[in-house]
Amino acid sequence: MAVSFTLEKELSRDEIKDLQRKVRKLAEEKRAVILAHYYQRPEVQDVADFIGDSLELSRKAAETDADIIVFCGVRFMCETAKILNPTKKVLHPNPESGCPMADMVTAEQVRLLRKKHPDATFVAYINTTAEVKAEVDVCVTSANAVKVIKKLPAKKIVFLPDQALGGWIAKQIPEKEFVLWRGFCPPHFEFTAKEVLKLKEKYPDAKIAVHPECHPKVVELADFVGSTSQILKYATTVNAKRVIVITEVGLKYTLQKKNPEKEYIFPESMNYCGTVYCCTMKGITLPKVYETLKNETNEVILPKDIMERARKPIERMLELT
Ligand code: SF4
Repeated sequence: MAVSFTLEKELSRDEIKDLQRKVRKLAEEKRAVILAHYYQRPEVQDVADFIGDSLELSRKAAETDADIIVFCGVRFMCETAKILNPTKKVLHPNPESGCPMADMVTAEQVRLLRKKHPDATFVAYINTTAEVKAEVDVCVTSANAVKVIKKLPAKKIVFLPDQALGGWIAKQIPEKEFVLWRGFCPPHFEFTAKEVLKLKEKYPDAKIAVHPECHPKVVELADFVGSTSQILKYATTVNAKRVIVITEVGLKYTLQKKNPEKEYIFPESMNYCGTVYCCTMKGITLPKVYETLKNETNEVILPKDIMERARKPIERMLELT
């Protein structure tokens, strides 16, 4: 699907407050739960019932008894929420907000790969489409991948779509053989080691926390490598005044709220979409959240058989963790 975001006018502080009040009122009236990823805009995070990474939000989606789930994240996350709650109404405030990495592998490609590696267990990062999940054996997130894959009896693992995360996992499980798909996350993969070294030179006392979707040369420089929620925990508790954080800039808001005593340094280089953040995550805006909930539009609809097949690898992941 082509991505074409309409520009929205910048809201004043009062307009933001007013919209936030309206969103919360609607959420109560309609028994809706609002889930938001850490990479969302601060004003969107502020109206959410829960903020988390992919694993935390999958769990919340599986547990909720709300009638409506408004998912402020990219498309594969909304699909996961729908797969785990097939009878619930899941709304996506911007259906054009997909994940470029998730779109780097198709169900047809997975089927072909199966023929090439019939003896392998197929592991998909949660950042995949519902159609791709329907073709694999188990899903993982960056927070639980090592734990889940270690528990699998298979010796050969086909991991998709993220080559950077797959390579990082493979290093920690040398007893297994890995076949990696060549997908990548544009915002994370484009941070260069050179940029990290520049930051380290400027802030020699800082610790470096890196997301495993980053390039292996960046990962090598890290004091800590982990998922978004693991970085959140590390950066807010580590014994250092400053932390250089190499992940999507949306996390800065939660870091500052959680522990304002520390300084969090994010790279300022120009990369994907001309900025340091994930454009598709930022495609969810507060007016879109409001309109979607008010009119109950942008419902996530998936074919029943795809949902049934895609649920199995997600549930297997939840069981194994
Ligand atoms: S940050 Fe990367 S993996 Fe996450 S939604 Fe954006 S492109 Fe996809």
